[in-house]
Amino acid sequence: MREIAYIALGSNIGDREMTLARARTAIANIRGTRVLAESAIEETEPLGSVPQGPYLNQMVAIETELAPRALLSALQRIERAAGRVRSLRWAPRTLDLDIVAIEGTEISDGVLTVPHPELPNRDFWQRELEELRTVRHG
Ligand code: ATP
Ligand code: MG
Ligand code: MG
Repeated sequence: MREIAYIALGSNIGDREMTLARARTAIANIRGTRVLAESAIEETEPLGSVPQGPYLNQMVAIETELAPRALLSALQRIERAAGRVRSLRWAPRTLDLDIVAIEGTEISDGVLTVPHPELPNRDFWQRELEELRTVRHG
């Protein structure tokens, strides 16, 4: 089955522009997946109390044959390839890839929650989602 999913990209270490560009290419190369639309890139202040530099964020709309858990695994493989080291939540990272929403799908299975539970708290995600839905639906 084909699903439309919205993926948030975030980076606040290293060459952030380059990291996002490579991540977009890597997402487009996931098996059975194509990128339908890309939001503008936005700079945002970090969340939480860990001192760190600002993030570059972007969202992409994709169409994928992968089931949600397989999609999450593919995204985590891309994070690792970008040199991400898992430490604290909201700690600085080369690349963060989150599944913000999947059209017509709700999941809460302990590993994956969709829509992402932080969506109501992140204005920039809401703006980017709106931007992508406008591009897709006119
Ligand atoms: P936040 O999720 O608040 O943006 P984060 O992105 O820094 O924080 P991570 O360390 O990237 O958090 O992810 C922690 C765990 O969140 C992952 O191992 C994954 O299993 C889980 N997770 C649950 N729902 C989602 C989702 N919708 N997208 C990505 N990861 C998710
Ligand atoms: Mg995140
Ligand atoms: Mg994450």
